[in-house]
Amino acid sequence: MPNVLIIGAGGVGQVVTHKCAQVLEVFETICLASRNIGKCNRIAAQISRPIRTAQVDADDVGALVSLIQTEKPDLVLNVALPYQDLHIMDACLETGVHYLDTANYEPPDEARFCYRWQWDYYERFRDRGIMALLGSGFDPGVTNVFCAWAKKMHFDEIRELDIIDCNAGDHGQPFATNFNPEINIREVTAPGRYYQTGVWRKTAPLSVSKEFDFPEGIGQKKIYLMYHEELESLTRYMPGIQQARFWMTFSDNYLKHLEVLENVGMTRIDPVIYEGREVVPLKFLKALLPDPGSLGPLTRGRTCIGCLIKGVKDGKEKQYYIYNICDHEKAFKEVGSQAISYTTGVPAMIGAMMVLTGKWSGKGVFNMEQFDPEPFMKELPRYGLPWTETIL
Ligand code: NDP
Repeated sequence: MPNVLIIGAGGVGQVVTHKCAQVLEVFETICLASRNIGKCNRIAAQISRPIRTAQVDADDVGALVSLIQTEKPDLVLNVALPYQDLHIMDACLETGVHYLDTANYEPPDEARFCYRWQWDYYERFRDRGIMALLGSGFDPGVTNVFCAWAKKMHFDEIRELDIIDCNAGDHGQPFATNFNPEINIREVTAPGRYYQTGVWRKTAPLSVSKEFDFPEGIGQKKIYLMYHEELESLTRYMPGIQQARFWMTFSDNYLKHLEVLENVGMTRIDPVIYEGREVVPLKFLKALLPDPGSLGPLTRGRTCIGCLIKGVKDGKEKQYYIYNICDHEKAFKEVGSQAISYTTGVPAMIGAMMVLTGKWSGKGVFNMEQFDPEPFMKELPRYGLPWTETIL
């Protein structure tokens, strides 16, 4: 039976490890490795099944190869940071082991993420006879599968797509991010970008907003247009899409803090000299901000992430909405992490399950929407992420 090697012992790594441990029939042995083995051991101690742990610098391909050769996993599940993606893919190629991640590669010195760097590995993965599954979190991840499901079950063609991500939770802190602060702030401060009839249109960061009425009592909230990586793969693999946009909610308090931090230069990613040493302001800011992992016991409320889709079925126009609601406190009670890590970690485990059970298979580099959505959709509610769909 298969073995899995999880890399990254942060908020998402904690959820993935708990979730893989719940599925003994798929994940026979689990090894959790990260830069700091103490964090791996702390997570392993929360779980009744034995979890192997290891220290590894995932930017060191040689060290990764040695670890893979020792642990002999069938799949490497990368929940470290986007900077490590290519190094971990290189190690998988060298050892002939399947690869999965939840965020696409981003060069450390440039706040720009895109799939090209990872798609360029397609031939090498194909020729090695192994598979890379990219973006198996919630967004990207479940949102891609929602689109594939909508296309399979409800539409002949999807024409307009709005992915809408709402965190209606509150952690009570003056300013904190729900996942890695460095990655989160790089993403939020980047220009907005959306797809319209074959053209990518750019907007100033967070300059486009509107109201959206979220279901199940969450209610009206302001949503802001951003660029998000799944727009790139969805417009590639679902060529009928004429417009694709991504929206996220932010509290006024979050935006005010972010504006001040940007204005004073604290979100810069280029090094500045301070007392004779190079300091990257955003990395320093990350060290000051609360660790997202510490927000678990403090966070109340729910998330609601879904896809609003317009398209055509049997010659008639149709509008459809599919979403998941996840409760922060319920997630914390189960796995000791808040809902942002939970909604990422559960689909990472299910994606690994799809690959290891052969329900999704292929040789090369793939995005989630390229596979049959049905087996994945079936597992989501079973492992804590129920979904609801409505024809509008
Ligand atoms: P964290 O910062 O909490 O965790 C990252 C972990 O990776 C930390 O344990 C960190 O170690 C470890 N790490 C970093 N660099 C290295 C390295 N060179 N070698 C080994 N380990 C390393 O982040 P999150 O858990 O919040 O996020 C994990 C991933 O999930 C990110 O890529 C993020 O973008 C993605 N994500 C995806 C979402 C989706 O829906 N698709 C949503 C949210 C997150 P240390 O503790 O020493 O710093």
